[in-house]
Amino acid sequence: MTGAILVVNAGSSSLKFQIFGIGETGATLIRQIRGQMDGIGLRPHLRATAADGATIIDRAYAPGEIPDLPAAITETGHWLGTLEGLDLRAIGHRVVHGGPDFSAPVLIDEAVLDHLADYEVLAPLHQPNNLAPIRLAMQISPDVPQVACFDTAFHRDHTQVTESYAIPRSYYDEGVRRYGFHGLSYEYIASRLPEIAPDIAQGRVITAHLGSGASMCALKAGRSVDSTMGFTALDGLPMGTRPGQLDPGVVLYLISQRGMSADQVTDLLYRGSGLKALSGVSSDMRELLTSDAPDAAFAIDYFAYRCGLSAGMLAAALGGLDAFVFTAGIGENSAPIRARIAATLGWLGAELDPDANARGATLVSTPASRIALYVIPTDEELMIARHTLALIQEPQQGNPT
Ligand code: AMP
Repeated sequence: MTGAILVVNAGSSSLKFQIFGIGETGATLIRQIRGQMDGIGLRPHLRATAADGATIIDRAYAPGEIPDLPAAITETGHWLGTLEGLDLRAIGHRVVHGGPDFSAPVLIDEAVLDHLADYEVLAPLHQPNNLAPIRLAMQISPDVPQVACFDTAFHRDHTQVTESYAIPRSYYDEGVRRYGFHGLSYEYIASRLPEIAPDIAQGRVITAHLGSGASMCALKAGRSVDSTMGFTALDGLPMGTRPGQLDPGVVLYLISQRGMSADQVTDLLYRGSGLKALSGVSSDMRELLTSDAPDAAFAIDYFAYRCGLSAGMLAAALGGLDAFVFTAGIGENSAPIRARIAATLGWLGAELDPDANARGATLVSTPASRIALYVIPTDEELMIARHTLALIQEPQQGNPT
Protein backbone atom coordinates (compact mmCIF):
# COMPACT_ATOMS: atom_id res chain seq x y z
CA MET A 1 0.00 0.00 0.00
CA THR A 2 1.07 3.55 -0.66
CA GLY A 3 -1.16 5.35 1.78
CA ALA A 4 -4.88 5.50 2.31
CA ILE A 5 -7.99 7.51 1.47
CA LEU A 6 -10.67 8.24 4.03
CA VAL A 7 -14.21 8.57 2.66
CA VAL A 8 -16.69 10.50 4.82
CA ASN A 9 -20.47 10.69 4.53
CA ALA A 10 -21.88 12.91 7.27
CA GLY A 11 -25.61 13.17 8.02
CA SER A 12 -27.60 14.61 10.90
CA SER A 13 -27.76 11.43 12.96
CA SER A 14 -24.87 9.40 11.60
CA LEU A 15 -21.30 9.78 10.41
CA LYS A 16 -20.29 7.02 8.00
CA PHE A 17 -16.71 6.43 6.92
CA GLN A 18 -14.58 4.00 4.95
CA ILE A 19 -10.85 3.64 4.48
CA PHE A 20 -9.37 2.52 1.17
CA GLY A 21 -5.72 1.55 0.78
CA ILE A 22 -4.00 2.79 -2.38
CA GLY A 23 -2.30 -0.09 -4.22
CA GLU A 24 1.42 -0.04 -5.01
CA THR A 25 0.85 1.17 -8.57
CA GLY A 26 -1.29 4.05 -7.34
CA ALA A 27 -4.12 2.84 -9.58
CA THR A 28 -6.09 0.46 -7.36
CA LEU A 29 -8.16 0.99 -4.26
CA ILE A 30 -8.58 -1.72 -1.64
CA ARG A 31 -11.34 -1.33 0.92
CA GLN A 32 -9.89 -1.81 4.40
CA ILE A 33 -12.32 -0.44 6.96
CA ARG A 34 -16.03 0.43 7.05
CA GLY A 35 -17.53 2.17 10.01
CA GLN A 36 -20.02 4.59 11.39
CA MET A 37 -20.97 6.61 14.41
CA ASP A 38 -24.75 6.48 14.57
CA GLY A 39 -27.45 7.46 17.06
CA ILE A 40 -25.78 10.86 17.53
CA GLY A 41 -27.34 12.65 20.54
CA LEU A 42 -29.62 9.71 21.34
CA ARG A 43 -27.72 6.42 21.57
CA PRO A 44 -24.30 7.18 20.09
CA HIS A 45 -22.46 4.10 18.92
CA LEU A 46 -19.17 3.81 17.07
CA ARG A 47 -18.69 0.63 15.06
CA ALA A 48 -16.08 -0.34 12.49
CA THR A 49 -15.16 -3.56 10.75
CA ALA A 50 -12.16 -4.68 8.74
CA ALA A 51 -12.42 -5.98 5.16
CA ASP A 52 -12.85 -9.56 6.46
CA GLY A 53 -15.78 -8.46 8.63
CA ALA A 54 -13.82 -8.58 11.90
CA THR A 55 -14.93 -5.96 14.42
CA ILE A 56 -12.30 -3.30 15.09
CA ILE A 57 -14.35 -1.13 17.42
CA ASP A 58 -17.83 -1.47 18.90
CA ARG A 59 -18.33 1.23 21.49
CA ALA A 60 -21.45 2.84 22.96
CA TYR A 61 -21.48 6.36 24.43
CA ALA A 62 -23.80 8.28 26.74
CA PRO A 63 -25.97 10.77 24.77
CA GLY A 64 -24.19 13.71 26.44
CA GLU A 65 -20.78 12.45 25.33
CA ILE A 66 -21.71 12.73 21.64
CA PRO A 67 -24.51 15.31 21.61
CA ASP A 68 -24.05 16.47 18.02
CA LEU A 69 -22.26 15.95 14.73
CA PRO A 70 -19.14 18.00 15.62
CA ALA A 71 -18.66 15.81 18.72
CA ALA A 72 -19.11 12.69 16.56
CA ILE A 73 -16.54 13.95 14.07
CA THR A 74 -14.04 14.78 16.83
CA GLU A 75 -14.44 11.41 18.54
CA THR A 76 -14.31 9.43 15.28
CA GLY A 77 -11.29 11.45 14.12
CA HIS A 78 -9.60 10.76 17.43
CA TRP A 79 -10.24 7.02 17.04
CA LEU A 80 -8.98 7.03 13.46
CA GLY A 81 -5.83 8.76 14.75
CA THR A 82 -5.14 5.77 17.00
CA LEU A 83 -5.08 3.32 14.05
CA GLU A 84 -1.55 2.08 13.61
CA GLY A 85 0.12 2.65 10.27
CA LEU A 86 -2.70 4.75 8.81
CA ASP A 87 -0.95 6.94 6.25
CA LEU A 88 -3.75 9.24 5.18
CA ARG A 89 -3.18 10.82 1.76
CA ALA A 90 -6.57 12.47 1.31
CA ILE A 91 -10.15 12.69 2.54
CA GLY A 92 -13.08 12.38 0.14
CA HIS A 93 -16.43 13.78 1.24
CA ARG A 94 -19.92 13.16 0.01
CA VAL A 95 -21.50 16.59 -0.43
CA VAL A 96 -25.14 16.60 -1.43
CA HIS A 97 -25.19 19.86 -3.39
CA GLY A 98 -22.73 21.19 -5.93
CA GLY A 99 -25.29 23.76 -7.11
CA PRO A 100 -25.17 24.96 -10.71
CA ASP A 101 -21.40 25.48 -10.72
CA PHE A 102 -19.82 22.16 -9.75
CA SER A 103 -20.14 19.52 -12.42
CA ALA A 104 -17.21 17.45 -11.12
CA PRO A 105 -15.51 16.67 -7.82
CA VAL A 106 -13.23 19.42 -6.57
CA LEU A 107 -10.20 19.86 -4.32
CA ILE A 108 -11.34 21.93 -1.37
CA ASP A 109 -9.78 25.19 -0.26
CA GLU A 110 -11.27 28.09 1.71
CA ALA A 111 -12.79 29.64 -1.42
CA VAL A 112 -14.44 26.37 -2.48
CA LEU A 113 -15.73 25.82 1.04
CA ASP A 114 -17.29 29.31 1.08
CA HIS A 115 -18.84 28.60 -2.32
CA LEU A 116 -20.31 25.32 -1.06
CA ALA A 117 -21.63 27.03 2.07
CA ASP A 118 -23.67 29.29 -0.27
CA TYR A 119 -25.60 26.16 -1.28
CA GLU A 120 -26.73 25.48 2.29
CA VAL A 121 -29.95 27.32 1.41
CA LEU A 122 -30.57 24.76 -1.37
CA ALA A 123 -30.15 21.76 0.97
CA PRO A 124 -30.53 23.06 4.53
CA LEU A 125 -30.99 19.61 6.06
CA HIS A 126 -27.92 18.03 4.45
CA GLN A 127 -25.33 20.53 3.23
CA PRO A 128 -24.32 21.95 6.66
CA ASN A 129 -23.74 18.40 7.94
CA ASN A 130 -21.69 17.53 4.87
CA LEU A 131 -19.49 20.60 5.31
CA ALA A 132 -18.92 20.22 9.07
CA PRO A 133 -16.28 17.45 8.83
CA ILE A 134 -14.49 19.37 6.05
CA ARG A 135 -14.13 22.44 8.27
CA LEU A 136 -12.91 20.39 11.20
CA ALA A 137 -10.40 18.41 9.15
CA MET A 138 -9.08 21.67 7.68
CA GLN A 139 -8.29 22.83 11.21
CA ILE A 140 -6.92 19.54 12.54
CA SER A 141 -5.07 18.28 9.46
CA PRO A 142 -4.56 21.27 7.15
CA ASP A 143 -1.97 19.39 5.08
CA VAL A 144 -4.28 16.50 4.12
CA PRO A 145 -6.02 17.31 0.80
CA GLN A 146 -9.79 17.11 0.88
CA VAL A 147 -12.09 16.48 -2.05
CA ALA A 148 -15.83 17.19 -2.31
CA CYS A 149 -17.87 14.74 -4.42
CA PHE A 150 -21.40 15.86 -5.23
CA ASP A 151 -24.70 14.01 -5.54
CA THR A 152 -25.75 16.57 -8.14
CA ALA A 153 -22.63 16.65 -10.35
CA PHE A 154 -23.40 13.63 -12.53
CA HIS A 155 -26.62 15.30 -13.70
CA ARG A 156 -25.07 18.62 -14.73
CA ASP A 157 -25.14 17.75 -18.43
CA HIS A 158 -28.94 17.95 -18.47
CA THR A 159 -30.36 20.36 -21.03
CA GLN A 160 -31.92 23.59 -19.87
CA VAL A 161 -35.34 22.24 -20.82
CA THR A 162 -34.77 19.26 -18.52
CA GLU A 163 -33.40 21.45 -15.75
CA SER A 164 -36.07 24.15 -15.76
CA TYR A 165 -39.32 24.69 -13.92
CA ALA A 166 -42.05 26.67 -15.63
CA ILE A 167 -41.76 29.61 -13.26
CA PRO A 168 -40.13 32.99 -13.97
CA ARG A 169 -36.61 32.66 -15.32
CA SER A 170 -35.16 34.74 -12.47
CA TYR A 171 -35.70 31.76 -10.15
CA TYR A 172 -33.70 29.51 -12.46
CA ASP A 173 -30.94 32.10 -12.45
CA GLU A 174 -30.83 32.13 -8.65
CA GLY A 175 -30.56 28.34 -8.57
CA VAL A 176 -34.12 26.98 -8.53
CA ARG A 177 -33.56 24.10 -10.95
CA ARG A 178 -34.14 20.38 -11.29
CA TYR A 179 -30.72 19.21 -10.10
CA GLY A 180 -31.21 15.48 -9.55
CA PHE A 181 -29.43 13.52 -6.80
CA HIS A 182 -27.91 10.07 -6.10
CA GLY A 183 -25.39 11.03 -8.80
CA LEU A 184 -22.48 9.14 -7.22
CA SER A 185 -24.56 5.97 -7.26
CA TYR A 186 -25.55 6.44 -10.91
CA GLU A 187 -22.00 7.27 -11.90
CA TYR A 188 -20.80 4.06 -10.26
CA ILE A 189 -23.46 2.01 -12.10
CA ALA A 190 -22.51 3.75 -15.35
CA SER A 191 -18.90 2.71 -14.69
CA ARG A 192 -19.93 -0.93 -14.10
CA LEU A 193 -22.19 -1.31 -17.15
CA PRO A 194 -19.37 -1.52 -19.73
CA GLU A 195 -17.91 -4.43 -17.72
CA ILE A 196 -21.23 -6.22 -17.34
CA ALA A 197 -22.95 -5.46 -20.66
CA PRO A 198 -20.76 -3.45 -23.08
CA ASP A 199 -23.43 -3.09 -25.79
CA ILE A 200 -26.10 -1.97 -23.39
CA ALA A 201 -23.74 0.52 -21.72
CA GLN A 202 -23.85 2.47 -24.99
CA GLY A 203 -27.64 2.37 -25.09
CA ARG A 204 -30.69 3.64 -23.21
CA VAL A 205 -30.76 2.54 -19.58
CA ILE A 206 -32.91 3.44 -16.59
CA THR A 207 -31.19 2.90 -13.25
CA ALA A 208 -33.45 2.72 -10.21
CA HIS A 209 -31.69 3.60 -6.96
CA LEU A 210 -34.25 2.19 -4.53
CA GLY A 211 -33.14 2.65 -0.93
CA SER A 212 -34.55 4.65 1.96
CA GLY A 213 -34.10 7.52 -0.47
CA ALA A 214 -35.18 6.55 -3.98
CA SER A 215 -34.89 7.93 -7.48
CA MET A 216 -34.42 6.86 -11.08
CA CYS A 217 -31.96 8.13 -13.66
CA ALA A 218 -32.16 7.95 -17.45
CA LEU A 219 -28.73 7.08 -18.86
CA LYS A 220 -27.88 7.44 -22.54
CA ALA A 221 -24.45 5.99 -23.40
CA GLY A 222 -23.53 6.23 -19.74
CA ARG A 223 -24.49 9.89 -19.26
CA SER A 224 -27.43 11.17 -17.25
CA VAL A 225 -30.09 12.80 -19.42
CA ASP A 226 -32.88 13.05 -16.84
CA SER A 227 -33.82 11.94 -13.34
CA THR A 228 -36.88 11.79 -11.13
CA MET A 229 -35.46 14.08 -8.45
CA GLY A 230 -35.54 17.83 -8.82
CA PHE A 231 -34.67 20.92 -6.82
CA THR A 232 -34.53 18.84 -3.66
CA ALA A 233 -34.42 15.14 -2.85
CA LEU A 234 -38.17 15.23 -2.18
CA ASP A 235 -39.43 14.83 -5.72
CA GLY A 236 -40.06 11.75 -7.83
CA LEU A 237 -40.53 8.33 -6.28
CA PRO A 238 -42.12 7.74 -2.87
CA MET A 239 -39.41 7.00 -0.28
CA GLY A 240 -39.11 5.72 3.27
CA THR A 241 -40.34 8.97 4.84
CA ARG A 242 -40.60 11.36 1.84
CA PRO A 243 -43.65 11.57 -0.43
CA GLY A 244 -42.06 11.82 -3.85
CA GLN A 245 -44.03 13.73 -6.46
CA LEU A 246 -46.58 15.99 -4.80
CA ASP A 247 -48.78 18.72 -6.22
CA PRO A 248 -47.36 22.00 -4.80
CA GLY A 249 -51.00 22.90 -4.14
CA VAL A 250 -50.90 20.40 -1.27
CA VAL A 251 -48.16 22.47 0.36
CA LEU A 252 -50.18 25.66 -0.18
CA TYR A 253 -53.19 23.97 1.43
CA LEU A 254 -51.14 22.87 4.45
CA ILE A 255 -49.91 26.43 4.94
CA SER A 256 -53.05 28.42 4.17
CA GLN A 257 -55.77 26.09 5.47
CA ARG A 258 -54.00 24.12 8.18
CA GLY A 259 -51.80 26.96 9.38
CA MET A 260 -48.64 24.87 9.24
CA SER A 261 -45.28 26.61 9.53
CA ALA A 262 -42.38 26.05 7.14
CA ASP A 263 -40.70 23.89 9.79
CA GLN A 264 -43.83 21.76 10.22
CA VAL A 265 -44.22 21.25 6.48
CA THR A 266 -40.51 20.41 6.22
CA ASP A 267 -40.86 17.83 8.95
CA LEU A 268 -43.94 16.31 7.33
CA LEU A 269 -42.29 16.07 3.91
CA TYR A 270 -38.86 14.82 5.00
CA ARG A 271 -39.74 12.64 7.99
CA GLY A 272 -43.48 12.01 8.13
CA SER A 273 -44.51 10.93 4.65
CA GLY A 274 -43.73 8.15 2.16
CA LEU A 275 -43.95 4.46 3.03
CA LYS A 276 -44.03 5.26 6.72
CA ALA A 277 -47.10 7.48 6.38
CA LEU A 278 -48.94 5.24 3.93
CA SER A 279 -48.40 2.04 5.88
CA GLY A 280 -48.57 3.37 9.42
CA VAL A 281 -46.18 0.47 10.05
CA SER A 282 -42.67 1.41 9.02
CA SER A 283 -40.48 3.27 6.56
CA ASP A 284 -38.49 0.07 6.10
CA MET A 285 -39.41 -2.04 3.07
CA ARG A 286 -38.33 -5.28 4.80
CA GLU A 287 -40.87 -4.68 7.56
CA LEU A 288 -43.62 -3.82 5.08
CA LEU A 289 -43.00 -7.03 3.15
CA THR A 290 -43.41 -9.15 6.28
CA SER A 291 -46.33 -7.18 7.73
CA ASP A 292 -49.95 -8.43 7.61
CA ALA A 293 -51.34 -4.89 7.85
CA PRO A 294 -53.48 -3.99 4.80
CA ASP A 295 -51.90 -0.54 4.75
CA ALA A 296 -48.44 -2.10 4.42
CA ALA A 297 -49.64 -3.84 1.26
CA PHE A 298 -51.14 -0.54 0.11
CA ALA A 299 -47.81 1.25 0.61
CA ILE A 300 -46.08 -1.42 -1.50
CA ASP A 301 -48.74 -1.10 -4.21
CA TYR A 302 -48.23 2.65 -4.25
CA PHE A 303 -44.43 2.30 -4.43
CA ALA A 304 -44.55 -0.17 -7.32
CA TYR A 305 -47.17 1.88 -9.21
CA ARG A 306 -45.19 5.12 -8.91
CA CYS A 307 -41.97 3.34 -9.93
CA GLY A 308 -43.77 2.13 -13.06
CA LEU A 309 -45.02 5.64 -13.88
CA SER A 310 -41.55 7.14 -13.46
CA ALA A 311 -39.97 4.42 -15.59
CA GLY A 312 -42.48 5.25 -18.35
CA MET A 313 -41.59 8.93 -18.09
CA LEU A 314 -37.84 8.26 -18.31
CA ALA A 315 -38.32 5.76 -21.15
CA ALA A 316 -40.00 8.64 -23.01
CA ALA A 317 -37.03 10.89 -22.20
CA LEU A 318 -34.73 8.24 -23.70
CA GLY A 319 -36.95 7.54 -26.71
CA GLY A 320 -37.12 3.84 -25.80
CA LEU A 321 -35.40 1.49 -23.42
CA ASP A 322 -32.68 -1.15 -23.70
CA ALA A 323 -32.13 -2.02 -20.04
CA PHE A 324 -33.36 -1.38 -16.53
CA VAL A 325 -31.02 -1.64 -13.53
CA PHE A 326 -32.07 -2.19 -9.91
CA THR A 327 -29.73 -0.94 -7.19
CA ALA A 328 -29.51 0.20 -3.50
CA GLY A 329 -31.08 -1.52 -0.47
CA ILE A 330 -34.46 -2.44 -1.95
CA GLY A 331 -33.30 -2.83 -5.55
CA GLU A 332 -30.39 -5.11 -4.64
CA ASN A 333 -32.13 -7.22 -2.01
CA SER A 334 -35.85 -7.48 -2.63
CA ALA A 335 -36.88 -10.00 -5.28
CA PRO A 336 -40.62 -9.36 -4.67
CA ILE A 337 -40.31 -5.60 -5.24
CA ARG A 338 -38.17 -6.18 -8.35
CA ALA A 339 -40.90 -8.50 -9.63
CA ARG A 340 -43.58 -5.87 -8.97
CA ILE A 341 -41.63 -3.17 -10.81
CA ALA A 342 -40.66 -5.49 -13.68
CA ALA A 343 -44.37 -6.19 -14.17
CA THR A 344 -44.97 -2.46 -14.72
CA LEU A 345 -42.38 -2.60 -17.54
CA GLY A 346 -44.22 -5.40 -19.33
CA TRP A 347 -45.72 -2.98 -21.89
CA LEU A 348 -42.16 -2.14 -22.94
CA GLY A 349 -41.42 -5.81 -23.47
CA ALA A 350 -39.68 -6.60 -20.17
CA GLU A 351 -39.91 -10.22 -19.06
CA LEU A 352 -38.54 -11.22 -15.66
CA ASP A 353 -36.85 -14.58 -15.12
CA PRO A 354 -38.35 -15.55 -11.72
CA ASP A 355 -35.56 -18.00 -10.83
CA ALA A 356 -32.77 -15.58 -11.65
CA ASN A 357 -34.64 -12.88 -9.74
CA ALA A 358 -35.08 -15.09 -6.68
CA ARG A 359 -31.36 -15.94 -6.76
CA GLY A 360 -30.43 -12.26 -7.07
CA ALA A 361 -28.49 -12.95 -10.27
CA THR A 362 -26.95 -10.01 -12.12
CA LEU A 363 -29.18 -10.53 -15.18
CA VAL A 364 -32.76 -11.20 -14.08
CA SER A 365 -34.62 -11.03 -17.43
CA THR A 366 -35.37 -13.94 -19.77
CA PRO A 367 -33.46 -14.35 -23.06
CA ALA A 368 -36.68 -13.37 -24.86
CA SER A 369 -37.11 -10.13 -22.91
CA ARG A 370 -36.94 -7.03 -25.10
CA ILE A 371 -35.43 -5.13 -22.18
CA ALA A 372 -32.54 -6.50 -20.15
CA LEU A 373 -33.15 -6.32 -16.40
CA TYR A 374 -30.09 -6.15 -14.15
CA VAL A 375 -29.32 -6.12 -10.43
CA ILE A 376 -26.07 -4.24 -9.83
CA PRO A 377 -24.95 -3.36 -6.29
CA THR A 378 -24.00 0.28 -6.00
CA ASP A 379 -20.85 1.58 -4.28
CA GLU A 380 -20.94 5.33 -3.73
CA GLU A 381 -17.98 5.22 -1.35
CA LEU A 382 -15.73 3.56 -3.91
CA MET A 383 -16.81 6.22 -6.41
CA ILE A 384 -15.79 8.95 -3.93
CA ALA A 385 -12.46 7.21 -3.28
CA ARG A 386 -11.81 6.96 -7.04
CA HIS A 387 -12.53 10.67 -7.56
CA THR A 388 -10.40 11.61 -4.58
CA LEU A 389 -7.46 9.54 -5.78
CA ALA A 390 -7.76 11.00 -9.29
CA LEU A 391 -7.77 14.56 -7.97
CA ILE A 392 -4.75 14.17 -5.70
CA GLN A 393 -2.87 12.58 -8.57
CA GLU A 394 -4.01 15.24 -11.07
CA PRO A 395 -4.87 18.25 -8.91
CA GLN A 396 -5.62 20.50 -11.85
CA GLN A 397 -8.49 18.23 -13.01
CA GLY A 398 -12.06 18.80 -11.96
CA ASN A 399 -11.66 22.30 -10.54
CA PRO A 400 -14.61 23.95 -12.22
CA THR A 401 -14.33 27.38 -10.68
P1 AMP B 1 -30.44 1.89 1.60
O1 AMP B 1 -30.92 3.27 1.91
O2 AMP B 1 -29.85 1.74 0.23
O3 AMP B 1 -29.55 1.33 2.68
O4 AMP B 1 -31.75 0.95 1.58
C1 AMP B 1 -32.57 0.83 2.72
C2 AMP B 1 -33.87 0.16 2.30
O5 AMP B 1 -33.56 -1.12 1.74
C3 AMP B 1 -34.82 -0.07 3.44
O6 AMP B 1 -36.15 0.23 3.05
C4 AMP B 1 -34.70 -1.55 3.67
O7 AMP B 1 -35.86 -2.13 4.21
C5 AMP B 1 -34.49 -2.05 2.26
N1 AMP B 1 -33.98 -3.41 2.23
C6 AMP B 1 -32.76 -3.88 2.59
N2 AMP B 1 -32.72 -5.22 2.49
C7 AMP B 1 -33.94 -5.62 2.05
C8 AMP B 1 -34.56 -6.86 1.74
N3 AMP B 1 -33.89 -8.01 1.88
N4 AMP B 1 -35.84 -6.86 1.31
C9 AMP B 1 -36.53 -5.72 1.19
N5 AMP B 1 -36.01 -4.51 1.46
C10 AMP B 1 -34.75 -4.46 1.89
